[in-house]
Amino acid sequence: MSDTIAAMATGGSISAIGIIRMSGDDAIAVADKVFSAISGIKLAGAENRKMYYGELTGVAGGIVDLCLCMVSRGPDSYTGEDTAEFHCHGSPVVISEVLRALFSHGVRQAEPGEFTKRAFLNGRMDLTQAEAVIDLIEAETSAAVLNAAGQLRGAVGIKLESMYSALLDIVAHFHAVIDYPDEDIDEFEMQSYLPALQSSEMELERMLSTHERGMVIRYGVPAVIIGRPNTGKSSLLNALLGYDRAIVTDISGTTRDTIEEKIQIGGVLLRLIDTAGLRKTDDAVEKLGVSRTIAALREAKLAILVLDGSEPLRDEDYEALCSIPPGVPRIIAVNKSDLQSALNDRDLSELGLEYKYCRVSALTGDGIDTLCAAINELFPELSTPPSGEIITSVRQAEAISRAKVSVGLAIASIARTMTPDAILTDIEAALFAIGEITGKTMREDVVTRIFERFCVGK
Ligand code: GDP
Repeated sequence: MSDTIAAMATGGSISAIGIIRMSGDDAIAVADKVFSAISGIKLAGAENRKMYYGELTGVAGGIVDLCLCMVSRGPDSYTGEDTAEFHCHGSPVVISEVLRALFSHGVRQAEPGEFTKRAFLNGRMDLTQAEAVIDLIEAETSAAVLNAAGQLRGAVGIKLESMYSALLDIVAHFHAVIDYPDEDIDEFEMQSYLPALQSSEMELERMLSTHERGMVIRYGVPAVIIGRPNTGKSSLLNALLGYDRAIVTDISGTTRDTIEEKIQIGGVLLRLIDTAGLRKTDDAVEKLGVSRTIAALREAKLAILVLDGSEPLRDEDYEALCSIPPGVPRIIAVNKSDLQSALNDRDLSELGLEYKYCRVSALTGDGIDTLCAAINELFPELSTPPSGEIITSVRQAEAISRAKVSVGLAIASIARTMTPDAILTDIEAALFAIGEITGKTMREDVVTRIFERFCVGK
């Protein structure tokens, strides 16, 4: 028995269509109470996933919309339960009238993610697919969409499932030998399972190695704009964003805190961070800004050093360059190209021949395209469309890491010819960790946390 829930599935603003969904034992019966198909057919006898046109009656008895209704019976529906969907005119008032009518028949408001949680609990999807649903809804780039869609189709779950089954075979074989000594079961030889364990370890390692890229796909490349005051950092941020986000003045120290905005450049999502700049100061607020700049640099996966091309290089420019941690890809934006240049190519090569530089004018927009193309070239891996194999979830990466450690311990124990039961403890720990990712080994707190991320109606 499941109570019947309903929620608006589309956004809460005026739109062409607004969808209300209902799921639970009474979904179709309640839909029949509020909806009358023009053809006269009752929804109880309606075909699955076929749209019917009809009238929706509100609480006070008046018709509140002429709309489409579709039912889908469990267990083959999204939630695994009986469901009904109304495709109404997209007025927030129409939608609230329809919901009021449903609530008057004992249906309750769905909690965030409750439809997908039911789908998971009813075995319609595993946890990796449930997480892919919300990732798909929140995806900000086409790479994030492709990866989430791949995971929704089971890209991660299928791999883990076959690994789980291989590890489970080992445990089952061991217990079969112990529990049924008289049966004609092949002798348990831990050594014979070494290849299966090694290939699981390799696969877990491979999955884990995708996580860094996954974080970038999901959250964007943390990109810090750095340089001495007044070179045009805030102006460049505004030019890249295409609107005035940061305050621009010729007074040094205007940007006192870090400003962060997301922007998509080609296939790359940048988390662009404009910094207070680095300079020695006695001003307490500015000091805080400088320390935040240093912190942002520590996390950066790209540094954009802004120079003022209309002035010769100063010590502070070299200091800014040196403040970029080693290994962080960097690009030099030689700004103010609309003014007389004071920096020739030889001056710039003194900064380091290996660094790419672009002449830009944040004021006129000249060279911004070239800068964007150069940024794209720094992240070729982000231009390769993923198909679900990239681990974007911190929760999944943490559990994969635990599984890998346990499998590694089991392999090491075999090498030291430890007793099978000692080895099996590690294999069982790996099974538990893999099961946590897919939801096989349920942890209520984990499940609750996952569905809290969802919006109402999904
Ligand atoms: P920040 O301190 O590095 O963030 O520099 P701002 O973006 O606040 O700019 C400092 C000054 O340089 C302002 O007066 C801007 O109008 C000016 N500026 C910024 N970019 C350009 C540019 O491309 N050309 C010219 N001529 N002036 C610019």
